[in-house]
Amino acid sequence: MPALAIVAERLIDGTGRDPIERAAVVIEDGRISAAGARASLTIPAGARVLEDNDLTLLPGFMDMHVHLASSGTNLVRILMTPPSLALLNSVPNCARTLAAGVTTVRDAGHTPIGVRLAAEAGHFPAPRMELAISLLSQTGGHGDDLMPCGARVGITMNVDVPHGVVDGVDAMRRKVREVLHAGADWIKLCTSGGVLSPGDLPDHAQFSVEEIRVAVEEAAVVGKRVMAHAMSPSGIRNALMAGVATIEHGCLLDEESIALMKERGAYLVPTLVAPGDVIDGAKGGGGGLPAEMVEKAERIGGLHRVAVSAAIAAGVKVAMGTDSAIGPHGTNLRELGQMVRCGMSPMEAIVASTRVPAELLRRADLGSLQPGKIADVVAVSGDPLADIDSLADPRHIRLVIKDGAVAYDFRGEAVAVQSSSASSPRAAS
Ligand SMILES: [Zn+2]
Repeated sequence: MPALAIVAERLIDGTGRDPIERAAVVIEDGRISAAGARASLTIPAGARVLEDNDLTLLPGFMDMHVHLASSGTNLVRILMTPPSLALLNSVPNCARTLAAGVTTVRDAGHTPIGVRLAAEAGHFPAPRMELAISLLSQTGGHGDDLMPCGARVGITMNVDVPHGVVDGVDAMRRKVREVLHAGADWIKLCTSGGVLSPGDLPDHAQFSVEEIRVAVEEAAVVGKRVMAHAMSPSGIRNALMAGVATIEHGCLLDEESIALMKERGAYLVPTLVAPGDVIDGAKGGGGGLPAEMVEKAERIGGLHRVAVSAAIAAGVKVAMGTDSAIGPHGTNLRELGQMVRCGMSPMEAIVASTRVPAELLRRADLGSLQPGKIADVVAVSGDPLADIDSLADPRHIRLVIKDGAVAYDFRGEAVAVQSSSASSPRAAS
């Protein structure tokens, strides 16, 4: 592959340091070989040079909480979707995510190993992904898909996704081994109730500390870690006491649980867009969600922003995540504006979406535009430090480069992307 150079108005390298004006990135053999002021670096002879007006270069964004094999919250539509179709829907979901500038994701459940293997084989455009496969829940907990009518909604019955309901220490040990065998990179537990579960409340803890601890221990045996859907302070505390690495949502974080997060060095993945997406989905999708779930989302939304603002102010490590599937895939970068409205600077929101998730994943080769790193590069039009919400507008995403190869080149397509067609990776799901 010939060298690739992208020349831009400015470069934000993801480390948090000031942007560099009139900059360029040079890519050779899938890695960044140079990044900095255009005048300070040499573009190799024969390199392919990409440029456009008023571009900003950024590292590929990293979303630490998506569900690629799930699409929307409409219960009726979920009931009418065969598992094979649900699985195939992950193909456009992956493409939309990558087209939005998200080059790496962590999938928080329901996506089987085949999606990752097919993506790695190049069968369709997709972000790099780490998978939790199953979503483990106690009986009657957030991940129990048994509906009050007695039917299971099937979202946990995807091909190659072990059923996630488990109770007791010995059963948990066996279940974690089963999920690891199914290819999980992460173990996902629900340690509190949630919004989209019929029989519980976000305010209550789920699983005992002993059950959570055995999951952490079993995962650690093979060098893997645990992520916890945790909203209530008690559920967050139990997860942290047992050694969970990342807290998902954290909607009801209080002073004590924030202090414990800092003490344990745990990451918060806020998914600030999720409660609003539940409400929008219920309004926009012809209903399909019971009123009590919408009411839970409305109550949680306001508390969530207060809790995340307090965590940011206290210096908790925050990594971007969206719970995409609840909202449309490919709209991930809306989360950065939400993080800014909870107290981050635009630069901090970018770092929380690049360098910090790379640290969370222990991927020192990702997350910044520095020599030697894997070349995941996004070029956007305009300056996201001046308008963070511009990142969420797909018309601003101009180039998406993953592993040094151009995945999407939208230069010159400013008008075309506004009309959504079924074949476009940008079409709304
Ligand atoms: Zn989720």
